[in-house]
Amino acid sequence: MRIGYKCIVQNVGLTKSKIRKDKKYWVNSADYQSSLEGSFVRLALVATINTEKLHLYTLRKFDLKTGPQKAKKLNGKLLEYIESFFSKPKLIDVFAKESDDAISKSIKLNRSSRLKRLEKANLKPKLVPVTSYVYERNPDVVAEALYRADGICERCSGAAPFYRKSNNSPYLEVHHIVPLSNGGEDSLSNVLALCPNCHRELHFGKGI
Ligand SMILES: [Zn+2]
Ligand SMILES: [Zn+2]
Repeated sequence: MRIGYKCIVQNVGLTKSKIRKDKKYWVNSADYQSSLEGSFVRLALVATINTEKLHLYTLRKFDLKTGPQKAKKLNGKLLEYIESFFSKPKLIDVFAKESDDAISKSIKLNRSSRLKRLEKANLKPKLVPVTSYVYERNPDVVAEALYRADGICERCSGAAPFYRKSNNSPYLEVHHIVPLSNGGEDSLSNVLALCPNCHRELHFGKGI
């Protein structure tokens, strides 16, 4: 037996009329009836995981003392160990926000001290673990916007600069006019298929 799901608790203290009917999963109807007693919690699935490293035997090495039946509040090393499987370091897409502040600061500082720092700099960048939330975009919106653009940037009307390795289609990027993070819709009327230059300019340029 092992941990397979990460859930959040949505409701507690629900009575049997508020829970999903799961009678068909019970072999024995007396067991089913007794399962209806007491109160229930509603969970929402956040992530699934499948690894032997979350097997109960392993968790015992990290101080798990109770059996799997009862709810248990986790803390310390055990919590850290379990959490580490659900927040793996992710390599961020190049399009993620650059560390603008650090770069601006370096640009403002005097050059000779920057060059001195560079001489002593660590040549292998640190890998920084990041947990991030990403909107799940509708692939039909992306595909349809690319179809609509037909290889031509919908901003500058230039041709896509190269072909995509994966499927040999003209390389354009689908951009949300009103960002999803500002409540924009993931719909055809809120997207533009753009050449990489225009896309970068819209995100990072100072505007005209
Ligand atoms: Zn363009
Ligand atoms: Zn964009």
